[in-house]
Amino acid sequence: KKSLNPLKKINQEIYSYAAIKQQEIEELKRMAAYRREFLADVSHELKTPIFAAQGFVYTLLDGAVKDKAVRGKFLKKAAKSLDGLEMLVNDLLTLSHIEAGEIKMHFETFNLLSLMEDVFDQFEGKADKKSIDLQFDKAYTKEIEVYADYHRIYQVMLNLISNAIKYSEDNTKVIVGFEIKSSEVEISVRDHGTGISPDHIKRIFERFYRIDKSRSKDRGGTGLGLAIVKHIVEAHGSSVTVTSSLGKGSTFSFKLPKKARQKDKAEKASQKT
Ligand code: ADP
Repeated sequence: KKSLNPLKKINQEIYSYAAIKQQEIEELKRMAAYRREFLADVSHELKTPIFAAQGFVYTLLDGAVKDKAVRGKFLKKAAKSLDGLEMLVNDLLTLSHIEAGEIKMHFETFNLLSLMEDVFDQFEGKADKKSIDLQFDKAYTKEIEVYADYHRIYQVMLNLISNAIKYSEDNTKVIVGFEIKSSEVEISVRDHGTGISPDHIKRIFERFYRIDKSRSKDRGGTGLGLAIVKHIVEAHGSSVTVTSSLGKGSTFSFKLPKKARQKDKAEKASQKT
């Protein structure tokens, strides 16, 4: 048999090298476009609270507000805008770290119920303000063990419950439930709030996407909560499911593994040696 012509072989190598480089260039272009868009979105979102705070502070400086009571009100409004700005910057940092793959997940086995106790504690005041009854779908007595990143899942639950409360009418219930399956646990957060139409469901996980811009802003929030939730849940090998009915309410759910998957175990073992 005749061996492959050496020139032909070199030619093939050059072609495959060029194809790989072309792919790398495409990926770099995509990243650059993403960064440009991200920066444009961010600048736009930062302007809102900055302009608001500036407005209140400059009005005070101009001496237009001599009345002590009005002065207090303006300062409070400026402070609220700055709080919003801080929240936005925090969420932005989290999201950009997660999207850049810079946040390492710290998987461990823990009891989901004790995590939920910590989360519920956070909401005592907020839920009370709207007389919302935040509760479990039934009494859980046994531990519910999951293998996940405690702090990230804490953040997911905080965001989902905070939305459930925000987009609910006063005097309604927000219900957290667990469906325990053979190898995973399904976690759900159900509200009896505004509900979300199918067109919007497709888009609510995009950063800064809000269904009703002015109303959502009134209720506080950064428009990044669900984008962060989506990334964290996906990093746990799951995805967020939404079922909703307009005017009746929504349910957000996702799954967590009960035990380390074989692959994780193998990785851990190889790290030890
Ligand atoms: P925001 O900070 O505006 O709440 P999110 O990313 O958490 O941002 O949510 C995006 C949008 O999805 C919200 O502005 C709201 O319009 C809608 N949304 C989220 N959760 C719910 C819910 N439980 N019920 C109704 N609408 C919701």
